[in-house]
Order: sequence, then structure tokens, then C-alpha cells
Amino acid sequence: MSSRNSPQKPDRKTGALLKSLITFDTSNPPGDTRALARFLATQFKMLGAEVEIVTAPNEKAAHFFARLRGDGSKKPILLAAHADVVPVERQVWTVAPFLGVEKDGFIYGRGALDFKGGLAVFARAVMMLAERKVPLARDVILLAEADEEQGAFNTTWLAKDHWDSMDAEFALNEGGYIFTDLDCKVRQVNITVADKLSVTLALTTTGPAGHSSRPFPVDDTATGRLIAALARLNAHNPRVKLVRAAETYFRALLPISSDKMAADIRALLDAEDEDAREAACRGLTDNTIRGGLLPNALLRDTMMVTVLESGSKPNVIPSEAKAMVNTRLLPGTRIEDIIQQIKTIIDDPRVEIRIVTPMSQEEAASHYLMRTQLPESPVNTPLYSALRRNAKCVWPESTIVPTMFEAGTDATAWRERNVPVYGVYPYPIDDDVLSRMHGPDEKIAMEALGQGTEWIYNTLLEVAAK
Ligand SMILES: [Zn+2]
Repeated sequence: MSSRNSPQKPDRKTGALLKSLITFDTSNPPGDTRALARFLATQFKMLGAEVEIVTAPNEKAAHFFARLRGDGSKKPILLAAHADVVPVERQVWTVAPFLGVEKDGFIYGRGALDFKGGLAVFARAVMMLAERKVPLARDVILLAEADEEQGAFNTTWLAKDHWDSMDAEFALNEGGYIFTDLDCKVRQVNITVADKLSVTLALTTTGPAGHSSRPFPVDDTATGRLIAALARLNAHNPRVKLVRAAETYFRALLPISSDKMAADIRALLDAEDEDAREAACRGLTDNTIRGGLLPNALLRDTMMVTVLESGSKPNVIPSEAKAMVNTRLLPGTRIEDIIQQIKTIIDDPRVEIRIVTPMSQEEAASHYLMRTQLPESPVNTPLYSALRRNAKCVWPESTIVPTMFEAGTDATAWRERNVPVYGVYPYPIDDDVLSRMHGPDEKIAMEALGQGTEWIYNTLLEVAAK
């Protein structure tokens, strides 16, 4: 191995790049990533990379590609990271969310964790290949995606007309977490090989409008019916289902778990009926240091009321009330079955339930069914092996755990074309950092960014260098 191909410890440049990325307010909506795309284009052009910007018809969502050419003897590798972020509730932040503030070893700002931090790591790893003029056997493509958090012009849209720019042998995107334990050591590096699917349902009720000084029977009003329906829904816990990706995950955790946790995992894997699975899931959620939210999400289709809309004036009984229920489906679950389950639970035919989609209800149901049936990414590829080997170098006590992502990503564009995609949040985090995702004072440690860049750069060297 020549010296320029040798692994290297990165400097603070990833943190500096992240700070710059945070200063572009790419909150989605409206999801304007054009200025950020132009900024990256300038950076990569200086390094001799081929760059391309694809702007969506809404003239806001801009996807950015940088490509380092290889000799073509192998198919490209692609690193995808979304550049848009969720909006902020400014009043609950204690630092400016779009300044890239550095404090106590952390960089604060919207997207620091999800996923401008990842974009900075992926981009720096690719830039380092270019800076050191590493000869490549395959193209290395960086894609800074637009519209991941909102939807219409995301990578599925991009793939329709620009697949040639995205085609690869395998790809990386956001997904599994790297957890630091209470003693600050990394023992678990999660790499996601499947995603849960996000489907939002609208529950709508109607009733007579009128003056609130002469109330109607509550059960006749739109708001009264909706409140009763949601109360029944909230009291319901969907049953435990052990899908393959979750089973693989829990099996891989066995050797690195406490005795108590290992016993709960064995109880889950050996459970022969629904009651036994429920009991095992309770054991797991009661006894993990991460509050049990993750095992719960990996073992159930979940549903959460996230938006409520009704009424415009305090003295008017509104004629309509609406709730958005965000469901997260396990691989294989049919949305029709979830809708039927909700109908049974709320037991009120006057509540209308529809999938929130620009498609027809039938089209949406079959589209989502296709997506929950996509196969997992196989773990027998050179990229997965390189991720595993190089994680060991950066975090010697770590175990690599293939798992399912409890959230959704835009990996579908690749997975539905049989391109393996592996999901990583490429930096160690703890519960405190994770709890800030989509919340106030989002942050990531400078040191974690450095370790992540070392991991991804060395992985690229192994997979793509000549
Ligand atoms: Zn994200």
C-alpha cells in the first residue's frame, strides 16, 4: 500500500465543513437546498471532481452530485446524505440553530446529527480521496439529497430521470446508530439493512356547526367524536411481531448484552405464542438503558397522533376535526391491515380514515405494499465487510450489528433496483445526543465527527482504491 493510500487520522476539517453546512437554512418546508448545493459544487470543483446539480420543478429542492472517476474496472460506490432538515421551534433552542455554534467540544445546530453531520463526514471522506489523489478502481459518488424530510422531490423522484448518475454497486446512507456506553466506549455499531416504512393516515370527523353557548351532545360533534376515537387509539398497543431483520439484530446483540438482557432476548427468540412475545418485549423495554423506545419500535408496527386540526374561533363549534396519525410499518405489513385494525379499535364508522398521499388510495396501498416487501440488503458484499473491518480499527471493542432502521429513509430508490444500501449515522452518540434529533439544541461531538471520517475514509480506501 503506498503512503497516500494508507489510513489517516482526520483533522478538524469535518467539523469546519459541518459548521458551514449548518449556516444554510435548509428547513423543509420549504426545503431550499440550492445555495448549499452551489457551495458544495465550488468545494468539489476545486478538487477536480465532476459536479452536477439537479433542481426539482419547485425550484427549491436541489440535489448535488460529486463524482471522482475511477478506472472503470469496478462499478461505482455511492454515499448519499440528505441536505434538508426539519424546521426548528426557535423559542426552545438555547443557541442559534443556523450558526454552527461550537461549544464544549460539540457543534450545535439544526442538522448537526440528522443529517448534515453525516453529509460532512461523507463529503470529507470523498474530499480526502481527491486531495490525496488516490487512484481509484471505481467511481466514488457523493449525493447531497434534497427533500428527504418532506417528500415529493426526494431520491425516488430523482431516480426516475437521473438513475445513471445514482447507479452504483452499493451505497451508504443514514441509518444505524453507533452507541457509546456509560463508560464512553463504543461497543455497538449498528448498520441498517432495512427500513421501517412511514405512512401517514388522516382521521376526519364531521358534525353540525353552531354557537358554543348552546352545545350539541358531545357525541354528535366533530371534535367530540375525534377525541373519543383518538383516546381509544392511544390506549391500544399493536402486537409484537418479530420480523427477520429484528431477529438478526437481537441475535447479534446476545454476546454483548448483560445477563438480564440476554435472558430477555432469548425469551423473545424462543417465544412460541403472542403472550410470550409480549412478555419478552416488556422485559426488553423495561431493562434497556435506552428507555426501551428502540426495542419497542423494532418489534411493533407503531402509530402516533402527530397533528390535530380543528376550529378557528373559541365560540364556534367546528364542523370538521382532523388528526394525522403517523404509522411506521414493519417489513411485510400491509397498510390496509393497519387501517382495518384502527377501524376496529375506534369502532366508529363515522370516522373517515384515508392515507395521506397525492396518489389514489388504491395506488398508495399497492405502492406501500411494494415498499414493505423490498428485500433486506445482503451483508455479504465488499462494502459491508469493509465497514465491519474498519469499524474495528476505529473502535476496537465494537461489534457490528446488522439491524432495521426504526425510521424511514430514502434508500428505496436503490433498494427497489436491487442496489444494497447500508444505513449509518457515522459517529458515536449517546442517549442525550440522540434525544435531540428533530428537537432543540441538536448537537454532535467534534471528536465523533473525526472518528466517523476516519472510519468512512478508510472504508472507501479499501473498497474503491486501486
Ligand atoms: Zn434524516
